[in-house]
Amino acid sequence: MIRYALLCEDDHEFEAWFSDSAGYDDQSARGLVECPHCGSITIRKALAAPAVATSRKREARAGSRMAEMAAKVTAHIRKNYDYVGEDFASEARAMHDGEKPARLIYGEASLTDARALSEDGVPVAALPDALAPTPPKKAN
Ligand SMILES: [Zn+2]
Repeated sequence: MIRYALLCEDDHEFEAWFSDSAGYDDQSARGLVECPHCGSITIRKALAAPAVATSRKREARAGSRMAEMAAKVTAHIRKNYDYVGEDFASEARAMHDGEKPARLIYGEASLTDARALSEDGVPVAALPDALAPTPPKKAN
């Protein structure tokens, strides 16, 4: 038996066992080797060298998945949170102290402010720049 690392036309990686290399040639020629991910029968053997390209591709894919998630998070925040801009720290503290009714807010805070808030037990989360929703345009 021989095991091959295989790639379909969409670069899905999978492995399959064959009786020998001729067995692989025969089965793939007859369309019997199928990508378990997408069902494609356009299959090729994965070679050692393209593995680099493949892992790069995987990275790119992970990157775009991250971007997709970031877009979802951003959209969620925009939809459900009130933008308070520079007032974030004072607003968060006022809500925490019960001076203002609690609501979901986002905005800008300096690292010092954010740290002070979390030290005082105010639940805040920092968003990486990539995730931070752009503030709504101020109406003139
Ligand atoms: Zn596939």
